[in-house]
Amino acid sequence: MHPKVKSMLTMSSMALANTVFANDSLRRPALKIAEKNTYNILVKKNRSQRPRKIQEDKYYVLRNLICAINKGFENKRVSPSVRRGLIKILVGNVLLSDNTQKRAFKETCGFNPPTFLLISPTKRCNLRCLGCYASSSSANAEKLDYDILDRILTEKKELWGSYFTVISGGEPLMWKSDGKDIIDIAAKHNDQFFLMYTNGTLIDEKMAQRMAEVGNITPAISVEGFEKETDKRRGKGVHKKILKAFGNLRSCGVPFGISITATRNNAELVLSDEFIDFYFEKQEALYGWIFQYMPIGRSYTLDLMVTPQQRKWMFEKEQHLIRDKSLFLPDFWNSGAVANGCISGGRPGGYFYIDWNGNCLPCAFYPYYTHNIKEIYKEKGNLNTALLCPFFQAVRKWQHDYSYMKPACEVGNQIVPCISKDHPREAREIIDATGARPGDQEAEVALKDPDYYKGLVACGDEVGRLTNPIWDKEYIGPERERVRK
Ligand code: SF4
Repeated sequence: MHPKVKSMLTMSSMALANTVFANDSLRRPALKIAEKNTYNILVKKNRSQRPRKIQEDKYYVLRNLICAINKGFENKRVSPSVRRGLIKILVGNVLLSDNTQKRAFKETCGFNPPTFLLISPTKRCNLRCLGCYASSSSANAEKLDYDILDRILTEKKELWGSYFTVISGGEPLMWKSDGKDIIDIAAKHNDQFFLMYTNGTLIDEKMAQRMAEVGNITPAISVEGFEKETDKRRGKGVHKKILKAFGNLRSCGVPFGISITATRNNAELVLSDEFIDFYFEKQEALYGWIFQYMPIGRSYTLDLMVTPQQRKWMFEKEQHLIRDKSLFLPDFWNSGAVANGCISGGRPGGYFYIDWNGNCLPCAFYPYYTHNIKEIYKEKGNLNTALLCPFFQAVRKWQHDYSYMKPACEVGNQIVPCISKDHPREAREIIDATGARPGDQEAEVALKDPDYYKGLVACGDEVGRLTNPIWDKEYIGPERERVRK
């Protein structure tokens, strides 16, 4: 198609989508159709021949995302610029994309590119939370310079056709370089959408207004429970500031969510009806992400990890909340099936992580590296240099051998998808074989700590033992039965 014709079609499709989304009586039926099509494609047609239960899990998560988007519009919590930003990226760059960059990548590299990057532009933070995975504090000066961050964001579009970026930290709103902050960089890359994990304490009215104007950022604000639990981990008065941030975001029309660290002490609380009602109904969070505490970072301890029994209980409760309550609330580990297992190491459809020093790690929770993006750029390489390094290749090989795209009746248990947390033996073997180095001092200490390793192995084995029967009965068993017939 001639580029001018394509551009006109894209513009008119975006204008149409803008009208549909702005109008309740058009949007509701349009989203119903989208939901039905999602079911047909994923569950009924199931062209990739994944186990049916995996496809159902994916459908429910996407259905809930559609519900969350609709709820944001119904409650009049989406500003016109956010609506335009969402449509420009979703319609212009995803639905109507001709996938030129993805095809070019596949032709050169032989596999599909990652979908996104996680980037922590700064280690600095205004809080000092217990057990912070990044060991951040106000004293940390490590950061990525503007030109490096700008180049990474440009390259991921050009090399992979990737228009989604996750920003973490440290506190992303404390990042500044060349007089620019994170909102400025989002404004420059206004063809990408940014999910930003933040402690929320710096989202005053002015900041919320700036986010509404750029229209391509959604903050996920960290909570540990209610005021008592959040302040205990994050500091006195933090929860009150978070509630103010929620209010500022609501009144400016910026869709937001919550990010929850589940520990042995709060696992039941953060999945309780009271908690869900407070954050999703009263505070109008549209989505939530659950991160089970991973013993890395400041004062890491195995004692805060959810127990294997809690993890199994969480899986069952989360299935109920996702299927029956229509909540967009994925668990980074227990929802592994939705992503076809571990997504680290730049797997097709997955991601890798670039920290404040430029180190390229498979995942924020597998903090080891062999390549650094600043060094790569000095030597005239690019993001693909990191993506194709032997360390990431070994991680991807493990993913393939364990579960990713295996025949439907052989897919490994994706309730325990994590190379780092659930399969520490394999994680360690890959580190040893590829000479990967720790991303920070805590990761180095953990690597040398025999009790840490033993504890992780014991926990991983026990979670596997408890969840294998579920995986076998509900996910793989029906597929074996189908093959037998
Ligand atoms: S290493 Fe673990 S936490 Fe990271 S993407 Fe894989 S499963 Fe998720």
